[in-house]
Amino acid sequence: MEQFDLVVIGSGPAGSAAAMAGLRAGLSVALVDKHGFPRDKLCGGLFTGRSEKAMKAIFELDVTPETFVTSSHMRFSAGADILAEITDAPPVHLTMRRDLDAMLHTCAIEAGAVPFLGQPLDQINFDGNQAILKDGTQLSYKVLIGADSVNSIVARLLFGRPFDPETIGFGLEIETPRTKAHDQAVEVDFEAAQWGYGWAFPKHKTITVGVGGINAENADMKAAMRAYVDQTGADPSLKYKGQYIPFGDYRKKPGRGNVLLVGDAAGLVDPVTGEGIALAMESGAFAAEAAAEAIAANAPERAFGGYLTRLKPIHRGLDQAKQWRLVMFPKLMQSSFKKAFRKGSSLQRKYLDLLAGDVDYGDLRSAFLRRVPKFLWWGARSRLRRLFSRREA
Ligand SMILES: Cc1cc2nc3c(=O)[nH]c(=O)nc-3n(C[C@H](O)[C@H](O)[C@H](O)COP(=O)(O)OP(=O)(O)OC[C@H]3O[C@@H](n4cnc5c(N)ncnc54)[C@H](O)[C@@H]3O)c2cc1C
Repeated sequence: MEQFDLVVIGSGPAGSAAAMAGLRAGLSVALVDKHGFPRDKLCGGLFTGRSEKAMKAIFELDVTPETFVTSSHMRFSAGADILAEITDAPPVHLTMRRDLDAMLHTCAIEAGAVPFLGQPLDQINFDGNQAILKDGTQLSYKVLIGADSVNSIVARLLFGRPFDPETIGFGLEIETPRTKAHDQAVEVDFEAAQWGYGWAFPKHKTITVGVGGINAENADMKAAMRAYVDQTGADPSLKYKGQYIPFGDYRKKPGRGNVLLVGDAAGLVDPVTGEGIALAMESGAFAAEAAAEAIAANAPERAFGGYLTRLKPIHRGLDQAKQWRLVMFPKLMQSSFKKAFRKGSSLQRKYLDLLAGDVDYGDLRSAFLRRVPKFLWWGARSRLRRLFSRREA
């Protein structure tokens, strides 16, 4: 039996950030992943200003041209209708998760985390504070952090299931080869999926083309993907890969006592932009800080309380985003949204600032409400309430 202050399951951005913050606080850390690194991860790889800030603060790493493409060229459309083409947008970065996650994982290992790779978590003995891996390795912990993504085994062992199938999102993607004819445009299509969108994000060698949205609202996501692949001129012979995305469907109580869930395992993905990398790193660091505080007080079971308090701003942001998507996604609102979003509007600028990490959803909503009759807003809001009332119940 190997003993650690902190055992982290999963070494994506959330788990590696938790390991870094734990080490910085003086904890001994085991970092477990079922894969070795580098490994692939389905993701658009859009790395916003918020992600950049979090990576700098937690890993002391900068955005570099080897790992990121940086673009100020944004193209927003609704099907064939181009709403806006902006070439001087606040810059966003784009990365292949294979490279990013390997870089963050290596940073955590070099800082002193002990790696346990190639073995999935199998069981947790909650009473004995032991994590048991598939090959029988037993790791004892004071605090356990579940950073094992949307299908989290830690969440399943704690709560019976990792997510709610009624409200979960789903995304499909391909990596289509990038040629000299392609520009640096970061493309977002608000009509490519219901309660979601389509994206074409340039990387060094490929363009990541995908569609994603609330699963229950997209009866045939493959058909939506086929249409979007057609529209973007991507290689139609490529096989789609798919994965669930929490999409704002966060857990109100992500953990219990000395077991904490972070990143996708806690459901922390923005339901408007689909951004999850920043929230994963932020929540990972929050969980490790709460763990260190509780361990120092000789009361590891208090870690969850400290973590929940730290998470409040993230939860508040997700609540605002859930309200804001009522403006964008319901059919009733789409023509108003398109009108308000067109060229040069204040709404468009605010959306770009949001991607750059400079404003929040409160600012965005005010920009829209100035242009839209109130009754439309109220109509859409009651629809979303109905959609999510099942989950609240
Ligand atoms: C199609 C799609 C597109 C997306 N596009 C974007 C985007 O453009 N920008 C953005 O910010 N976000 C995007 N996201 C969301 C983003 O990918 C996630 O929010 C983010 O990866 C969450 O990080 P994480 O560390 O919580 O989980 P992950 O990155 O999924 O890492 C989890 C780790 O846990 C390991 N693991 C899993 N189970 C076990 C186990 N049982 N035992 C041991 N290890 C285990 C895995 O191997 C993995 O390394 C997208 C998601 C999808 C599905």
